[in-house]
Amino acid sequence: MTLGKRQLALASTGTGLTLLIAGPILALALGLPIPLVVVPAVLGFVFMMAGGVLYAMDTEARPAAAVPRDPIALTCPNCGGAAQSIVASGIATCAYCGTRFRVS
Ligand SMILES: [Zn+2]
Repeated sequence: MTLGKRQLALASTGTGLTLLIAGPILALALGLPIPLVVVPAVLGFVFMMAGGVLYAMDTEARPAAAVPRDPIALTCPNCGGAAQSIVASGIATCAYCGTRFRVS
C-alpha cells in the first residue's frame, strides 16, 4: 500500500521532470509555436508537484507505521507476576521479584 503510493509519486515526478526538460527542448527543436513549448513544461511542473505531494503524504505516513505495537501483557519468567515495567528498549523488569528479562 505504502510502496504503491511511493512508486506512484516517483513515477509522477519522473514523468513531470521528463516533460519539463524534454518537452520544451523537443518543441523548440521542432519549431513549434511558444504556447506548445510552454504546455509540456507546465504539465511537467504539475506532474512534479503531484509527485512531491504524494511523496510527502507517504513520508508523513511512515512514523505512524513505526509506532510500537500495542502494549502486551508481560509475564515474569521467574515468578509469573503480571506487572512489569520496561526500563530499556526490549528489557522489562518484574515489579514483584525484580527479574530483568528481554521482551521478544
Ligand atoms: Zn518476577
